[in-house]
Amino acid sequence: MTTTAIEKAGLAALQPWLRDIAAIADRAQLATVTGRLARLGVGVPLEVYVYPDQKDRRRYILQLAQGGLGLPDRDDYTRDDPRTRTIRAAYERYRERLLALAGLKAEDVARLSPLVLALEARLAEAALTRVARRDPNAIYNLHTRDSLARLAPSFDWAAWFAALGAADPGEFNVSQPAFAVALAQAVQAVPLDVWRAYLTIHLLDEAAVRLPQAFVDARFDYRGRAISGLQQPVPLAERVIDTISGPSGGEPLAQALGEIYVGRSFSPEAKTRALAMIDDIKAALRARIDKLDWMSTATKQRAQKKLDAMAVKMGYPDRWKTYEGLQIAPDDYAGNWLRAADWQFARDLQDLRTPVDRTRWNQSPHVVNAWAGGLNEIIFPAAILQPPFFDARADDAVNYGAIGSVISHEITHHFDDRGRQYDDVGNLADWWAPEDAAVYKARAARIAAQYSGFMPLADQPINGQQTLGENISDVAGIQIAYDGLQRALARRAAPARIDGFTPPQRFFMANARIWRSKMRDESLVNQLRTGAHSPARYRVLGPLAHMTAFAEAFNCPADAAMLRPPAERVTIW
Ligand SMILES: [Zn+2]
Repeated sequence: MTTTAIEKAGLAALQPWLRDIAAIADRAQLATVTGRLARLGVGVPLEVYVYPDQKDRRRYILQLAQGGLGLPDRDDYTRDDPRTRTIRAAYERYRERLLALAGLKAEDVARLSPLVLALEARLAEAALTRVARRDPNAIYNLHTRDSLARLAPSFDWAAWFAALGAADPGEFNVSQPAFAVALAQAVQAVPLDVWRAYLTIHLLDEAAVRLPQAFVDARFDYRGRAISGLQQPVPLAERVIDTISGPSGGEPLAQALGEIYVGRSFSPEAKTRALAMIDDIKAALRARIDKLDWMSTATKQRAQKKLDAMAVKMGYPDRWKTYEGLQIAPDDYAGNWLRAADWQFARDLQDLRTPVDRTRWNQSPHVVNAWAGGLNEIIFPAAILQPPFFDARADDAVNYGAIGSVISHEITHHFDDRGRQYDDVGNLADWWAPEDAAVYKARAARIAAQYSGFMPLADQPINGQQTLGENISDVAGIQIAYDGLQRALARRAAPARIDGFTPPQRFFMANARIWRSKMRDESLVNQLRTGAHSPARYRVLGPLAHMTAFAEAFNCPADAAMLRPPAERVTIW
């Protein structure tokens, strides 16, 4: 928050990195510097992280994934519509400003900036689309250092892994092998001065929010104004919290903040009530699976086994993360970031030698969000147990419509078109009878087609394939939450009306209320092109159109605009 200290520090913390980038004189040094940058989370162009093996959740492995593209989407390098041209022009200005701030001469900036875009376009061409990346089998490709070197020669993988701190990585996953091949080819074909400019731009882009105002402004004009349509920066205090937390509370220091949050703001009563709701909702899904008319008994039994095995992480971790060995210095925002990122990566590498810890939280309790984790688990941070999601003073109808629908959405993720391909311990393993899988796919295809018919903007529909997992979880989730409410109401009767509304009406109103939001068109376009979720409005309209209970609650006529005709309604779970 001490902006004078940030101005005074300037680029001091980054200077050793910028010098190393500027000194790259051969391909081995290029591999070394990109490996070291990957430790910071600057994936140029390969992102690296440690996560349980998709097919053996008992062991941690390195995961390599495509990255290093400055435009929001791989298709933005080839799209030719006015919106994309505007974003590309803003990205051009951003690259030029970052290179100038790094001290390059004007003629070098002018020459190198377009070549960096061409390098990224070359990598983007080899990158998988977001839809293709939703196929878990397509992005599971175990390799060793030797097999990767055979697949993608002409990149110094030995130097890269050594710089990463994993000289002997054992088996690891290469999510997009064709991208690794393209990287290796680009290393041969693209001159080193273009690579140096590319690495400089991406390091500064990642660091910009911790640097002097000139960097903050440059980044805001591109990522805030052009991509998201922001008219002014978010207040500094909020930005700092976002920077410490990361988008999902996964940044190295996030839990240190979350521990303070829980100590001050979390009620044990909220946790007890949320756990009771999870029991009701799981019981509701169990009953629905039993009654499915399209699924064989054998597949039902395996679905029930998976549901029974599903773990719940509620509120905050039993054991808090500790921070031994991390150096935090006052008035050194950028330096603290560099040290924390490297410290975290070193700790992650130690995991490669230990069995998977299923109790660990990779998120922080102060973030308002919820997840379906890769270990057949659902995760609810403490901060989501507050209005409008949860209110200890509210009646069951309101809480089941709000946090209840979130809970059942997360449970359903383990049974959506992607999640259903993982088994009861979270392994990617097919437990479906082929004829059941065929019916599932046919029903999922109808959901995808319906959502592709939504046009949030005149020139930009929802991508029903890209958002399919979220839409299935929304459509099924609200129905399961509604069944869960009936179980709660059977235990303790509710008043016939509160404020003039019946319990079902209050359930649906509470559900719609959690999605209230406003967006500028730029942000909406970005979500439609890059997001896994449908825009908030369609997370209400989409699912309710399938629900008889909704039609009955508000006495909708059969031809009401908010309902789909019965023949178009889809039940999966
Ligand atoms: Zn979701």
